[in-house]
Amino acid sequence: MKIAIASGKGGTGKTTLSTNLASYLAESDNVVLVDLDVEEPNSGLFLKAELIFSEEKFKMIPEWIKDKCTLCGECQKNCNFHAIIQLGTMILVFPELCHSCYACSELCPTDALPMKEKKIGDLSHYKINNLDFIESRLVIGEEQAVPLIKQTIKYADLHFKGIKIYDSPPGTSCPVIEAVKDADFVILVTEPTPFGLNDLKLAVETVSELNINFGVVINRYGIGNNDVIEYCNNKEIPILAKIFDSRKIAELYSKGELLYNVIPEVRVELKKIKDYIFNAVKVV
Ligand code: SF4
Ligand code: SF4
Repeated sequence: MKIAIASGKGGTGKTTLSTNLASYLAESDNVVLVDLDVEEPNSGLFLKAELIFSEEKFKMIPEWIKDKCTLCGECQKNCNFHAIIQLGTMILVFPELCHSCYACSELCPTDALPMKEKKIGDLSHYKINNLDFIESRLVIGEEQAVPLIKQTIKYADLHFKGIKIYDSPPGTSCPVIEAVKDADFVILVTEPTPFGLNDLKLAVETVSELNINFGVVINRYGIGNNDVIEYCNNKEIPILAKIFDSRKIAELYSKGELLYNVIPEVRVELKKIKDYIFNAVKVV
């Protein structure tokens, strides 16, 4: 079972829910939590897990070999991403724009563009009891999150058969779609505020397009207004749980501690989420 936890914007409590839900489910099942927010992974701050494996991750980009090049211009024509251009007698490759599609390399008539590895990030695998935790972190300056997200999901798929929880990047752009597109269920985390509602609507549009089963968790319930609840009711979107706004939760969060073992109401809400999803997905 793959559960993706997403939100239309950052700072809604996505990581809090991911870490608490993963740890709660790991009390009775084998669970892997995968932090796919590769630009700013922070789930690890809440899990006192032991590092058991790490590796560098790469993407492939073409490297121009001047001596073999006839300046025929084919590579520039064949790149759909404007990642390679001919400038006078030079061929310039822009690694940040390259999607590693191999077109320029394969179609170069003189083999002047062999593909070479470029480091894009680091993957780390941690373990604590029944819970495996994987996080990937983009190297500074690398603009494309999607290749690293893909490789991180592949690592999780290769090594785990139990419940997978993906802590997705915030927003509704390509990295989020890559993180949620294969999920069996998506939890959208929001806040009961006008900003929360606006971003929730965008996130709902995205997962609806992908045709994935989803529900909403309202974090910091008690602040703001009832518009999120009315929106969900009107759209017949299930509200899986409400995590109350409380000073105690804020204090635990600021110390990097999990909530569900300290605040019984949070455990109750996590159980509601588990029951709903396990019933909806009908696995396990
Ligand atoms: S396709 Fe190959 S030979 Fe032609 S310009 Fe590009 S690198 Fe040079
Ligand atoms: S590998 Fe693909 S995206 Fe990258 S430069 Fe070549 S054609 Fe463009």
